[in-house]
Amino acid sequence: MIPYGKHLVDEQDIDAVVDVLRNQFLTQGSTVPQFEQALCDYTGCQYATAVNSGTSGLHVACLAADIGQGDTVWTVPNSFVASANCARYCGANVDFVDIDVATHNIDIDALIYKFVQAEQSKSLPKALIVVHFSGLSCDMQVIQKLTQRYGVVLIEDAAHALGGSYQGQKIGCCQYSDMSVLSFHPVKSITSAEGGAVLTNVKVYDDKIKLFAKHGVTRDAEQMETDSHGPWYYQQIALGYNYRLSDLHAALGLSQLSKLDSFIKRRTELAQNYQKRLADLPLKLPVITGYSNSAWHLYMIELTQHDRKAVFAQLHARGVGVNVHYIPIHLHPYYQQLGFKIGDFPVSENFYHHALTLPLFPSLTDTQQNTVIDVLHEVLQ
Ligand SMILES: *Cc1c(COP(=O)(O)O)cnc(C)c1O
Repeated sequence: MIPYGKHLVDEQDIDAVVDVLRNQFLTQGSTVPQFEQALCDYTGCQYATAVNSGTSGLHVACLAADIGQGDTVWTVPNSFVASANCARYCGANVDFVDIDVATHNIDIDALIYKFVQAEQSKSLPKALIVVHFSGLSCDMQVIQKLTQRYGVVLIEDAAHALGGSYQGQKIGCCQYSDMSVLSFHPVKSITSAEGGAVLTNVKVYDDKIKLFAKHGVTRDAEQMETDSHGPWYYQQIALGYNYRLSDLHAALGLSQLSKLDSFIKRRTELAQNYQKRLADLPLKLPVITGYSNSAWHLYMIELTQHDRKAVFAQLHARGVGVNVHYIPIHLHPYYQQLGFKIGDFPVSENFYHHALTLPLFPSLTDTQQNTVIDVLHEVLQ
């Protein structure tokens, strides 16, 4: 079975991890700060905090934005549940903005409409979490103008998008947002096995991100509420978590980061092949936008004439491990219990019913891709 996604770990990555095991601190050593600096160097962002998952990163980003009980956070239904759960961890309410039919990112017209309504009813959200779905950047400049007008914190869930760019700048640079969150889960652009990072250009956010990711404990005398007792002293000034990344994981992430551009190059090549060679089939293919270069985390097709469940089964029977992204968040029982219903976000729901994710990852060979393309022609023609 050709999987839909797969990590690519080489001997250099393995040596980097073994070096930490043999010679360095396993956690709280120098490899995590090195990885954080490398993420800043790559993205052009000023501050980075490595954490033990993208989900932890989203949680501390919400905490840094001071989200709590009584607040509302908006995101899109077309994402992994973590994009919404992070607000629930803080005790906040979640609401959704539907997606655009073409890009599958947040629908800017729907967002404008929702802001107007929310302002009238005095129910503006505290934060908006946008998702660069499949690695294609949202139109951040336009979105930031809106969030600034309404005084809303803008967080990028960039779990799909590391290595992509927007208006010539790397995703994660935070030029048009308050914070960006990355994931290093094995299917993402680079991996640290599990891991993530929160990026920001705002020192106040960075201090809070680091505080909440490390028990709410500070060793900085300036942050303490009373005088330090001495060099050993630390003080807990908030309720934080242990969301630290270990140095083992950071070593893998750091080594992977040096290969990110080559990974994205191969993903782009494969995506362009699909675009060309599937053009004759009854499908909707991904759009290319003028303002961004996709990181091509996922290559999605939408069936226009065939039954998705049947095609899924036929492809699996022929060794092509397609997948489906995403079950709209508001359709999960947990969110239904909060009052969301089928039909609330029709574009996301419709996309979910017709979408298939084709195999796309850096080590997918030309031969494997040819198999995928041939099998799709067999099944769909
Ligand atoms: C993978 C993913 C996450 C969560 O990242 P983890 O590192 O798995 O916790 C969050 N949001 C989106 C859109 C993702 O794809």
